[in-house]
Amino acid sequence: MTVIEKYNQLTNQIEEASQRANRNQDDITVIAVTKYVSIETTQEAIDAGVTNLGENRLEGFQEKHAAIGNDAIWHFIGTLQSRKVKEVIDDVDYIHSLDRKSLAKEINKRANRKIPCFVQVNTSGEESKHGLDPEKLESFIDLLRNYENIEVVGLMTMAPLTEDRDLIRRCFRSLREYRDQIRDKQLSHAPCTYLSMGMSQDYEIAIEEGATHIRVGSSLVGNELK
Ligand SMILES: *Cc1c(COP(=O)(O)O)cnc(C)c1O
Repeated sequence: MTVIEKYNQLTNQIEEASQRANRNQDDITVIAVTKYVSIETTQEAIDAGVTNLGENRLEGFQEKHAAIGNDAIWHFIGTLQSRKVKEVIDDVDYIHSLDRKSLAKEINKRANRKIPCFVQVNTSGEESKHGLDPEKLESFIDLLRNYENIEVVGLMTMAPLTEDRDLIRRCFRSLREYRDQIRDKQLSHAPCTYLSMGMSQDYEIAIEEGATHIRVGSSLVGNELK
């Protein structure tokens, strides 16, 4: 299947999942994750109508950004080392992996504008997963008040790699509950209206549970370089 065909298929699935959840399809942003594909395939996605791109590594981000530039909205979705912040900060539109003070401090220092950030939460309790322990979320959001170049636009999580659909759903549902709690405080530095959750294997569950941003790689652009 070509990227256009896969994008059409994805769009149909999103529409169906939205209907099941009584949601408006337009409230869901598709981020095409291009980490396993070439610049050419990335360009095909843009030509197919994809507007948001995500990369999880600095090198991939820089390579794709240099080629595609302002034709896309850029999401950094992977673990970001503090010392590498300065190399992406001018080119990112969103950062999805804010999960610690040292990173917040560096983003704040290097940015010359407000950066929309998702705070990444570890909803599965898996040791290997990055993201903030939910118990520390409230105080972390509070601390971010001090960083004028950070705006908390939402929360992000990665579900565990499992066949257990109920477990995945519980992770997404808990992220939504955390989001609601923060959003309802109406903090000026943390409007926190968005939910970045759902990948190729689980985006339909994520949409049913309220995702506003789904990050889809393999099933949209493929994984030719994997
Ligand atoms: C790779 C990646 C994705 C997309 O994964 P697929 O399963 O290929 O859709 C989404 N989010 C993050 C953080 C990733 O690293």
